[in-house]
Amino acid sequence: MTALLNSLEARDTAFVLHPYTNASQHLENGPMVIAKGEGVYVIDNDGNRYIEALGGLFCASLGFSEPRLVEAAYRQMKELPFYHSFGGKSHETAIELAERLIKLSPVPMSKVFFANSGSEANDTAMKLVWYYHNAIGKPEKKKIISRNRAYHGVTIASASLTGLPNNHRDFDLPIDRILHTDCPEFYRYGHEGETEEEFASRCAASLERLILEEGPETIGAFFAEPLMASGGCIVPPPTYYEKIQAILARYDILLIADEVICGFGRLGTMFGSESFGMKPDIITMAKQLSAAYQPISALMINAKLHEAVVAESQKIGTFGHGFTYSGHPVATAVALETLKIYEERDILGHVRSVVPLFQRRLNALREHPLVGDVRGRGMIGTLELVRNKATKEAFKPGDGVAIHAGKRAQAHGVITRALGDNFSFCPPLIMTEPEIDEMFDRSTKALDETY
Ligand code: PLP
Repeated sequence: MTALLNSLEARDTAFVLHPYTNASQHLENGPMVIAKGEGVYVIDNDGNRYIEALGGLFCASLGFSEPRLVEAAYRQMKELPFYHSFGGKSHETAIELAERLIKLSPVPMSKVFFANSGSEANDTAMKLVWYYHNAIGKPEKKKIISRNRAYHGVTIASASLTGLPNNHRDFDLPIDRILHTDCPEFYRYGHEGETEEEFASRCAASLERLILEEGPETIGAFFAEPLMASGGCIVPPPTYYEKIQAILARYDILLIADEVICGFGRLGTMFGSESFGMKPDIITMAKQLSAAYQPISALMINAKLHEAVVAESQKIGTFGHGFTYSGHPVATAVALETLKIYEERDILGHVRSVVPLFQRRLNALREHPLVGDVRGRGMIGTLELVRNKATKEAFKPGDGVAIHAGKRAQAHGVITRALGDNFSFCPPLIMTEPEIDEMFDRSTKALDETY
């Protein structure tokens, strides 16, 4: 009994408030304590081994036991464990990382700003949108448009951009100046008889209507994940970004690509923007930037934005923004090593070589009685679970079908996460073909046992 009282599970329940967890159920269920990582697997406290079908949280691109990243952190800790970047201070790994990122950028970019999380990167991007429009003498151009079901983070500003009700409800969000437009999911929102391209035109027309209703002179920026990941792996319909970008150009609205999940190879291109022909003014990134071995995020801004920041400094003085850990030496050293590994091991080439199998196995589940829609691109995909395949009738909110499927998956040695009624796959990019087969074989058994 004493051992039980002192167990990690009991101490967790006693002391930890968990992110994104039902706080009430947690008091009864307790945690799942993970003890160790090995390649694409993690091992829990009882020695059970699980294939990580979501790469942790869409981030552990190199799996859970990459020694080069451990050594990079250790080397940097010995040399210079911390220094900051305020007041023009700098250090080598941050400089080298910024240089590499600018070279990797899919569109010409001018400067890199470092932060610690995806939410902070998006917050910073929002502040820059406002700062920029003040600098160029358009102080009324401040509203930012995001999309229903988008996920951009959880700080007050980035949670406001996020278009999921659970992130707003009872947090008194969203803040003002933030607007949401249509989610481009064809399966749910496409009309009977409409083609995907017609649907894309309708989404674009709806965006334009919103801009005109609000007044184009008040709209500063449009935020978009190239492929909406957490909202349910929503792949934009063909011609969507072409049409959206034409409207943004017409009304002089900045485009911000949130590459927190798509960045660094997830879609088989270095950035998701390349996959969809996006030409953003700002790119935000995190997660696979360091393969999740250190918390770090960044944003790249183009010359037009940087010139405005310089002009503001001439006018009002210091750029009044920055985090203690912006460009942290250990985090930047690990990110730099991550990018070197991506290049030396040709991770993009590996992703492209396994994507056909990944997508074939994913799409084969379209036949499953529980699966209404299958969506995916590159090495990310989801199964939208429905009560009735023919009518697309969704499960009732309380049914928790994806949670149930997730529990069955866990029993078969697979960890994924329920995102609405979606059963999702976003494994480490290093996953091999036999491991992909194993992940789908086990997940299929779990789905067969769901309801
Ligand atoms: N943007 C996107 C597209 C994300 O998926 C996430 C997190 O999942 C974030 C931003 C927020 O990142 P973080 O959790 O590091 O704050």
